[in-house]
Amino acid sequence: MIDIARDSALGTSGASALFQLLRDGQPRTRAELATLTGLARSTIALRVDSLMQLGLIRPVGEAISTGGRPSSRFALNPGARVVLGVDVGASHAKLAIADLAGTILAQHGEPLPVADGPEAVLSWVVDAGHDLLAGLGRDTADLISIGIGLPGPVEFKTGRPINPPIMPGWDRFDVPGWVQQHWPVPVLVDNDVNISAIGELATAWPDVEHLMFVKVATGIGAGVVSGGRLQRGAQGIAGDIGHVQIARGAGVPCHCGNRGCLEAMASGPAIARGLRDAGIDVQTGRDVVELVKHGNIDAVQAVRQAGRDIGEVLTACVSLINPSIIAIGGAMAQAGEHLIAGVREVVYARSMPLATEHLGIVQSRAGEDAAVLGASMLAIHHALSPASIDAMA
Ligand SMILES: [Zn+2]
Repeated sequence: MIDIARDSALGTSGASALFQLLRDGQPRTRAELATLTGLARSTIALRVDSLMQLGLIRPVGEAISTGGRPSSRFALNPGARVVLGVDVGASHAKLAIADLAGTILAQHGEPLPVADGPEAVLSWVVDAGHDLLAGLGRDTADLISIGIGLPGPVEFKTGRPINPPIMPGWDRFDVPGWVQQHWPVPVLVDNDVNISAIGELATAWPDVEHLMFVKVATGIGAGVVSGGRLQRGAQGIAGDIGHVQIARGAGVPCHCGNRGCLEAMASGPAIARGLRDAGIDVQTGRDVVELVKHGNIDAVQAVRQAGRDIGEVLTACVSLINPSIIAIGGAMAQAGEHLIAGVREVVYARSMPLATEHLGIVQSRAGEDAAVLGASMLAIHHALSPASIDAMA
C-alpha cells in the first residue's frame, strides 16, 4: 500500500480510524477492534454502527465464541461504492469501473487521440463512464471518486497538465473542474506512468517498497516508488528518463529539441525508424513487436539494443534509488524477453554488485491494465482516506 493508505490507522479519530483497520478485508469482531485500537467497547459499537449506515462495512459471519452467544464480525464491503479509473494515452483511451477492493468490474477502451483536446477527450470519458455504470446497473450516486492518468507532466495538487509536449490545448487545463461539472466527486489526475507504477505495485508487488515502473512505448518514462511512496518530484516530472542523453545517441535529434535522448533511440517509433533505414518495411512500434514475434532477426537485434540503451539510463537510476524491482511495461514490452534481456545485460554488468544482488528486472505483471488499475487505486486511496471517511461519517 502506498501514499495516503500509509497514514497511521491509529493516529486519527472518529470512524475513519476504525475503517482503516477494516480496509484490508479481514473480518474482525467488535472485541478484536477494541483490542487493536484501545478504544472502549461502547465507542467501537457506535463507530461500527456509523460505518454500517454508510454501507462501507458489512457483517460477515460470526466468530467462534468461547461461551455465550457468537460475536458478529465486520469487514470492508467492497461493492458499497465504485470508482472510475481512466487511462488517456497518446492515441488510445481506456476506462474501468472498480469496486473498493480495486477489482475491475467492467472496462472499455477505444482509439482516441489526446491531441483532440481536453473537451473532446473528457466528453468521451463522461459518456463512456455513464455507459459502463449503466451496464453494471449502478447509479451515478454510487461513484465515489475518479482517477485519471494523462500522457504528460501533471501538477498533482491541482490536477492540471503542465506544458505537456504531445497534448495541444491541455496546458494548465482544469481537468478536475471540468469533470466535476458532470460528476461532483473528487477527481485525482496524475501522469500515466505514475499511475501505472501504482497499478503494478498494487497488482503484483504489494510488499515491495522500492520499485521502478518503466514504460516503453511511443515515449519512455518511469514511475518511481521509493520507501513505499510514489515520488512525483517538485514539478511532477520525477522519473522522466526519456530525455536523458545516451552514448549511442550522439547527434540524433529528439522532438524535445535536444540531441541524443534515450527516447530518440529506444522508443517504439525510434526502433521502427532504425529498421526502416535498414530497408525493412515497418511503420510503428507495434509493427516492430509483430516482427519480433515472427522471429525477424533484425527486429530482435534492434529491440535488444533498445533494451541496452534503456539499461544504460537505468544503471544510473539503480545507483540513485536502489530499487528491488524494475518492471518494464508499455507496448514495446510486448516484444517479450528480448527487450528485458538487453536491459539486464547492461544493468547487471554496470551496477555495483550489492545494488543488483536482489534486483529483479521483469516484464510488467499488470500489463496493459497497469494504468487503469493504478488510476482506480489512486481514486480508492483518496476516497477511503481518513479525511474522506470523516467527512462522510
Ligand atoms: Zn529528448
